[in-house]
Amino acid sequence: MTDQALVVFDGVVKSFGSFVAVERMDLDIRKGEFLAIMGSSGCGKTTTLRMLAGLEAPTEGEIRLAGKRINDLPTWRRDTPMVWQSLALFPFLTVRENVEFSLRMRGVEMAERRQRVDKWLDRMQITEFADRNVAHLSGGQRQRVALARSLVTEPEILLLDEPLSALDAHLKVRMQTVLSNLQKELGITFVYVTHSQSEAFSMADRVVIMSRGRIEQIGNPQEIYRAPRTKFVAEFLGSSNVFAGKVSAADGDAIRIATPSGEFDVARNPAKTLAKGDKATFVVSGDRVQLSNERPVGVNGMQASVVGEEFVGATAVIHLEGVDGLELKAQKSHDELEQINLIPGAKIWVSWRAEASHILPGE
Ligand code: ATP
Repeated sequence: MTDQALVVFDGVVKSFGSFVAVERMDLDIRKGEFLAIMGSSGCGKTTTLRMLAGLEAPTEGEIRLAGKRINDLPTWRRDTPMVWQSLALFPFLTVRENVEFSLRMRGVEMAERRQRVDKWLDRMQITEFADRNVAHLSGGQRQRVALARSLVTEPEILLLDEPLSALDAHLKVRMQTVLSNLQKELGITFVYVTHSQSEAFSMADRVVIMSRGRIEQIGNPQEIYRAPRTKFVAEFLGSSNVFAGKVSAADGDAIRIATPSGEFDVARNPAKTLAKGDKATFVVSGDRVQLSNERPVGVNGMQASVVGEEFVGATAVIHLEGVDGLELKAQKSHDELEQINLIPGAKIWVSWRAEASHILPGE
């Protein structure tokens, strides 16, 4: 546990009957950080957030907020407001009444209520809609109302569950900037659940990647992107090629790994932990492999057949299959692909430098 932890999940388990949605989670959430929780559908991200909000009770373990156990504290007694994808605004109330709601519930007197609501309407730039019914607002305006409504009590932590997923792409990017600036200015801890890599990686100080109820990796976006710990994380991030095999030679930092697709050199043996005969898995991201019609020299290479080509704006992702059936992906600019035979079924060479491979320490 760090001194800075505002929230601690200490061995937290959540089961629904015999199904374990969250498995023995240990997680510290630091004061003032923007923490994103990511993972594929059903991995337990929302359940984790709901336990923090008091909407689900942990089956085992303890959740502490500012050092105090909150397992049994009802939602209305914790200061952990939540912003939902659906926003859950009160449809028959005006913007002002929505924002004022939780202050009323807390019995804050009228003059102070008015002053705090005005401050948040102004801060979220929705003063001009104050008396409008929330049903008559645009998606972006409704987002701002939802944020003002949650922040008006000036909590230490704000929980956000896919708050931007219903917005169009342009507005999503605008709201990302609003959220990220707001979080920095206020210094409030944000816990943000999303399945979107771009949202998590552009806003968060740290990202938690979950799979099937377990934390696979926690780190800052650069760390996770450059050094995924497990095969799940590498594949979740999209463009990686994963090779599993055994170490056939180890000499200081450089190692050689024999896989069903061939033997390959890897430049870095993390902390020199791998020795001859050990199992090892490494990844090479799709933008770091080269494609050529002829066998390249002085680099790792294997033959593969072209499965197809997928256009992704300025680049293309080439899907390939190795002789042993291994699926590979290469992400290249259109210029780089000009001279390559990309007809489906064509045999070409896939190559990469030893420095481009990364050993997965968690495999
Ligand atoms: P999504 O991105 O689809 O919202 P998620 O990662 O947020 O997914 P959770 O909502 O946390 O996933 O659900 C985790 C697992 O727990 C899922 O398999 C879900 O079906 C199950 N689950 C969640 N709530 C309940 C419940 N009340 N009763 C039974 N099972 C539940």
